[in-house]
Amino acid sequence: MPTRPMRPCKHRGCSALVPGGKTYCMQHACEEVKWKPDAVRGNRHARGYGSAWAKRRDRILLRDCGLCQVCRRTGRVSLATEVDHIVPKAQGGTDDDANLQSICHPCHATKTGGERR
Ligand SMILES: [Zn+2]
Ligand SMILES: [Zn+2]
Repeated sequence: MPTRPMRPCKHRGCSALVPGGKTYCMQHACEEVKWKPDAVRGNRHARGYGSAWAKRRDRILLRDCGLCQVCRRTGRVSLATEVDHIVPKAQGGTDDDANLQSICHPCHATKTGGERR
């Protein structure tokens, strides 16, 4: 794979260099996905969880800029559509903000698939 030249992050005043093809550094990646709370409100399958969960879910997505935290750790930028329990509730995890993270569907599927084993 040819190496592309590094470019500065497009965020005003940010001097971080990002690989060619990318626009923002990980810090400002949320500006790239342009996440808005309403963007994910459409496909609510949080029904059954009640509105308290829906509110918490929105808050977590907002906190994480709507970015999948699992992808983010590996340097990828993808839009989160779900909120995941870091420690599964079945294993004593809580609904605490600290135990919740934004996650994209593929990562969530991988994670829950792995937990089942
Ligand atoms: Zn930046
Ligand atoms: Zn992901």
